[in-house]
Amino acid sequence: MNALVDPLSYREQSPAVRARFEALKERPVVLSVENLYKTFPCGSGVVTALKDVSFQVYRREFMCVIGPSGCGKSTLIRILAGLEDSSSGQVLLDGKPVSGPGPDRGMVFQSYTLFPWLTVKQNVMFGPRMAGKGSSAEPEARQWIDLVGLSRFENSYPHQLSGGMKQRVAIARALANRPRILLMDEPFGALDAQTRSQMQSYLLQIWRNLDITILFITHDLDEAAYLSDRILVLKANPGEVDEMIEVPVPRPRTPSQFVTPEFIATKYRIDQLIHPEAAHETDSIPFPRMTVAGDDVE
Ligand code: ADP
Ligand code: MG
Repeated sequence: MNALVDPLSYREQSPAVRARFEALKERPVVLSVENLYKTFPCGSGVVTALKDVSFQVYRREFMCVIGPSGCGKSTLIRILAGLEDSSSGQVLLDGKPVSGPGPDRGMVFQSYTLFPWLTVKQNVMFGPRMAGKGSSAEPEARQWIDLVGLSRFENSYPHQLSGGMKQRVAIARALANRPRILLMDEPFGALDAQTRSQMQSYLLQIWRNLDITILFITHDLDEAAYLSDRILVLKANPGEVDEMIEVPVPRPRTPSQFVTPEFIATKYRIDQLIHPEAAHETDSIPFPRMTVAGDDVE
């Protein structure tokens, strides 16, 4: 993206969009992250992966987290999931401090984390069974498998499914624990472009029909602008909150909105934040000329 883009600000919201954000912020806070710090030992010193990160996610909000590689996105989501301790600060879910993993937070990772020796149904039943749901685990699992459109595959094993189908099972498995929030770390990052865009539309449908809040990590500008109510932009070294973007694109979303001024303005803003002009380091790589001077193609 460049200066040719109409510099309409993503802050320009229509009255309907403004009303949507006002209503969003009146909802209860599901997740509250307060002054979170995380350092890792590195050689004789430390690396600060997260520095004073604070934000709130409202009930049924869809929030994306975006930022350059190494800015602490995965560290953040692992702390929220309880898989990693913070160095300081706290995480509250429905007002209660989080410590350790729990069924109130569902995780979906980029790499397929299904149990390969279990069928689709057994994978989805795993959580409800662990929660002590005996005979109701199976009908409940079926309900989630139906929701992700994989009823015909309930007895298949993960290796018999495509990448997109595996991620649909992973979503069903996470939802089967009835989490308050779904934490997704680049869940569609390994899929081809077409499957990825199908999965995005699919996830929006699921989100719309359930009482679920979603925190979704991505490094894809289109994905962030298409899915989010708000986008949390992080910057690197140390990982800090750069900006919280309210996406002015109306809902329900469709891929045809990718060319609307609101969508482009949002993407342009994220691009400015995560790829500042000075960061185009490839421009400075000396490349020897291998054609005759004057024989120019542009
Ligand atoms: P992202 O997901 O945004 O690419 P990460 O959260 O994976 O970033 O990493 C943030 C920073 O923390 C990086 O500098 C990374 O090297 C460092 N880091 C992450 N996990 C560890 C770890 N277990 N030990 C040491 N350093 C780590
Ligand atoms: Mg990561």
